[in-house]
Order: sequence, then structure tokens, then C-alpha cells
Amino acid sequence: MTELKKRVFAANWKMHVGPDDAREYLSAFLQRYPGHPDREVWFFPPAVSIEAAARAAANRHDVTVGAQDIHWEAKGAFTGAVSAPLVKAAGARAVLVGHSERRHVFGESDAETGRKVRAALSATLLPVLCVGEKLDEREAGNAMAVVTRQLDAALGDVDGPNLDGIVVAYEPVWAIGTGRNATPRDAAEMHKHVRAWLLGHGARRAVVLYGGSVNQGNAAELLAEPELNGVLVGGASLDPFGWAQLVQTGAA
Ligand code: PEP
Repeated sequence: MTELKKRVFAANWKMHVGPDDAREYLSAFLQRYPGHPDREVWFFPPAVSIEAAARAAANRHDVTVGAQDIHWEAKGAFTGAVSAPLVKAAGARAVLVGHSERRHVFGESDAETGRKVRAALSATLLPVLCVGEKLDEREAGNAMAVVTRQLDAALGDVDGPNLDGIVVAYEPVWAIGTGRNATPRDAAEMHKHVRAWLLGHGARRAVVLYGGSVNQGNAAELLAEPELNGVLVGGASLDPFGWAQLVQTGAA
């Protein structure tokens, strides 16, 4: 799992790539991308493909597989949900929490993100907390207040040492899947804010990723901004060859 110095390239496959396709994808990707000492690659497949992806990447210590979501309870009568211990048993070592599609399509609340972060930590999964404002919130000048509210709700109860084991992904909602991305400067401004929140609450390290329409054409420019510890990528991670190219060139 990541050390602060390593750049993180995280792929969110959303509701794409079944188990057979995950095996095929990983075989193509791992051949094309032999690894690089200063980077880590994380994959967030749909729950049904976690095990296939984790097995396919088992020999690569620079590759981590995670879940896209978990329920906050460890087990019980929650039809259709998966828990932290269940995804961990399937091979996940990390989990996205509060992705904007969970918040805005499925109505996940700030309070629920907090429960999920705690559930992930108690199962020793690395939570990747996604935060970000909507377009109207940015235009109203409330972007930082929204992100602060999301951090307070999800991480306010987490003590300093545990905060070291959390990664935050800043993903402005207006940039996800829209082809519109934040400028490196706008992203850096919010990353500084997130970093200050984490360090101010007792974290000794702060890993902050950027997500929102990152692709092969803009990754290098975004990653040239030292505030960005890596990227979280949806659409542009679905093709193994394009993703291998982005991972190889993006941190040049
Ligand atoms: C995401 O799903 O987290 C994301 C950033 O998607 P996209 O790269 O497609 O905007």
C-alpha cells in the first residue's frame, strides 16, 4: 500500500468489466505496464470482479484492488449490499467512500460516509474518501465550505493515527464524466485545503488525489502540480492499453 512519496494512479471501473473481462484486462495491462518504483496502480472493479482482479494482480506489489462501495454494517439483512469484511475476503485492500455517484445518484448522506469510513478502518481496508462540490456550489463560492463539511462529517471522529491511513480524492462533481476538468491551479487550491484539514486534525501525512475527466491528454499537466499525489480516473481507465499509457507517461 502506498507510501507518501509514490504517485497513485487509481482506476474506477464503475459498473463495467465483469470477472472474465477483468482477468483479460489485467493480463493485457500488466504486460504493457511492467511497473515503476515511484508509482502505484489501484483498481476499483465492480464487486463481482474484485476477486478475479485481485488474483490476476496477485504477483504485483505495486497493484492494489479495492471496492467501489461498502455498507457500514459488517453483516446482516441488507439485501444487495456488500460489507467491508466481505470485500476484504474477496481480495480488496481499499474502498472508495462517498464517490459522487453514490452521493448524488444514490442519495448517500455525509453521515453515511462517516459510518463507511469507520467500517473500512475496522476491517483494515484503506478508505479513499471522495469529496467535491457541485457546479452551483462552486459558482456560489461555496466549494471549500462544501468540502470542509464533507471532511468534517466523514473524518471528524477519526483520530490522528487513523487519519494517516486515509486517502482523500478531490473530485469536483461538475468534472466527473463530463470531459471538463479542473485546472491544475484550482485542483491545487482545494488539495491544499484538504491537506490543511487533515494535518490540522492530527494526521502526519496527507495523500490527496484528483479526479474528474483525467485522461492521457491532461494527466501530465495535472500531475506536474506537486499538490496532486495522484489521480482517480473513471472513463479513461477502461481500456487497458490507454490506461497503461496514462500510468507510464502521466508522472513523467
Ligand atoms: C470517477 O469515476 O471517479 C471519475 C473521476 O470519472 P471520470 O474520470 O470518467 O470523470
